[in-house]
Amino acid sequence: MTGRFAPSPSGRMHLGNVYSALISWLSAKSQDGAWILRIEDLDPQRCRREYAVQLEDDLRWLGLTWDAGGIGQPDYVQSQRGDIYAEHLERLRAIGLTYPCYCSRADILATQAPHESDGRVVYRGTCRPDGTVEKTEWLANRAASCPHAPAIRLRVPDREIRFTDGHYGEQAVNLAHECGDFILRRADGAWAYQLAVVVDDALMGVTEVVRGRDLLLSVPQQLYLYEVLGYSAPRFAHLPLLCNEVGQRLCKRDKSLDMGVLRQQFSAEEIIGHIAHIAGLTDREEKVSANDLLPHFRWDAIPREDVRIEN
Ligand code: GLU
Ligand code: ZN
Repeated sequence: MTGRFAPSPSGRMHLGNVYSALISWLSAKSQDGAWILRIEDLDPQRCRREYAVQLEDDLRWLGLTWDAGGIGQPDYVQSQRGDIYAEHLERLRAIGLTYPCYCSRADILATQAPHESDGRVVYRGTCRPDGTVEKTEWLANRAASCPHAPAIRLRVPDREIRFTDGHYGEQAVNLAHECGDFILRRADGAWAYQLAVVVDDALMGVTEVVRGRDLLLSVPQQLYLYEVLGYSAPRFAHLPLLCNEVGQRLCKRDKSLDMGVLRQQFSAEEIIGHIAHIAGLTDREEKVSANDLLPHFRWDAIPREDVRIEN
């Protein structure tokens, strides 16, 4: 059994990241599994090596040790794995599942139906070839007038994907209606998260993915990629999100809860103890190390509702 933590080094870890790291670590270790650390630094604008160094220091300080990966092992660093993603993209292209997309963000927003205003952008297939002469000509014109390289999208079928999340239970999502054809490589050449995460989890032998429930909606896309690439999918178990006192999901901007500030105020055992308590693993808030928490770990104690953190 192999679990993993796959942070993006775009800032200091905050309490929410530590929560995901701890539960994923406890789940893997309580099954005598390995736990790997993969650095998801695909976005060159946001990710920095210093953040990855800091992140490793924070994990070690917390007692969350990994069995493989980290910045010292380029095989576990996404920015070093472009050739592998390119091979997989080529496989998908060769079986006719990809197409170039010339749309700008404004083009895509202009084709949205009103009910999609909840933040999720479902691509309407503007650039998807349909075999007709008109569309083929129209796409050739678009290609000729597009000032930059196109993005590459995966064609998805009009099909419902069903799966059982280890924590949130049965899920059913129609790929065409709720996800749409999604990006594998961006117009600026950057590899998309969905492709990289599936290729990496498959090739790294990950059998259990534990992460925040903001990524629950990505599972259908990822399952479809596992299927078309011929890899077996891991078990998925998602976690509630931690929110600040006004109910917004914690993010890297919530400085008062980032590890830089927390480490000045609390010991590792106090931080782990706090998370263990909000995760339902202990009755009272008390100091505990990650190792000593292992015998107390159980999935059914963990809440499903998001957790509000008092500052
Ligand atoms: N790199 C992603 C993030 O930090 C997590 C990806 C994953 O766990 O699948 O949000
Ligand atoms: Zn397009």
